[in-house]
This record gives sequence, C-alpha cells and structure tokens, in this order.
Amino acid sequence: MSLRLTDRKIKVMIVDDNDINLSILSKMLEHHFAETVEISAVLTSGTDALERLSKEEVDLILMDIDMPGLTGVETTAAIRQATEHPILKENQQVPIIAVTTSDGAAQREVYQQVGMCDCVSKPIALPKLRSAIEGAMMKSTGRLATG
Ligand SMILES: [Mg+2]
Repeated sequence: MSLRLTDRKIKVMIVDDNDINLSILSKMLEHHFAETVEISAVLTSGTDALERLSKEEVDLILMDIDMPGLTGVETTAAIRQATEHPILKENQQVPIIAVTTSDGAAQREVYQQVGMCDCVSKPIALPKLRSAIEGAMMKSTGRLATG
C-alpha cells in the first residue's frame, strides 16, 4: 500500500516535551518515511501546537501525552472543540496519534474518546508506527494515493 497523498507528502506535526524523544521520532520519520512524510513542525508543547494549528494546515499529528502545561489529551480536546483557540477548519479533524508510555487499556480508551485515532507505545516500534500512520491516513478519507 502506498502512503503517499495523491499530490504531495503527508505533512506531519510532532509534539513532545522531551527533546530526545523528538529527535528519535524525527530520525525515524526521516529514515523510514522519507518518500511519504514531510515533517512540517517539531514542537515541545501543546500550547505551541494550538498556536501553529491556527495558522498552518497539517495532515497528521504525532502527539506525546505526558507534557507539562497542556497534556496530549487536553491539546487534542482543544483542537477538536476549537472554541478557545482559532484552530483552522482544515485542522479540526486532523488525525492525531498518541505516542506515549501511558499506553494501558484505560488510557487508550480516553485517547479514543477525546478523538485520537491510535496509540503508539514508547519505545517506538517501527512496524507499529507504520501501521498507525497508514491507518490514520486511510481513515482521513480520500487523502491517500491508491497506487
Ligand atoms: Mg512527555
């Protein structure tokens, strides 16, 4: 299956308060998804994510959960509700994948309820990351090339 969008690479935002985690995830995307993914933003807080999503359209967000200030869950809720932040309409239903060590069944249930589409455990396993990205992009209809 192709991960490409019909006309361009998938614009991915990654959000994690830990610089080492951001670096690991960036390198995984650069090495293993170079043909399909373009990293459009690397941010260290939910607040920064909300700010960026009010200005620039993205196709997918990989979001840490445990962050000071807004958690990944709170950030996701703010994106979906878009009441307190002027989130671009195009971003309000953007697929969001949790990337976290907080990956128990009860927590996954919370992520799903708040509007996240999948959860990838840390440390990140490449096959799981790949299937989560593919699944997320399949669900955001009509955005994948079928070739
Ligand atoms: Mg964290």
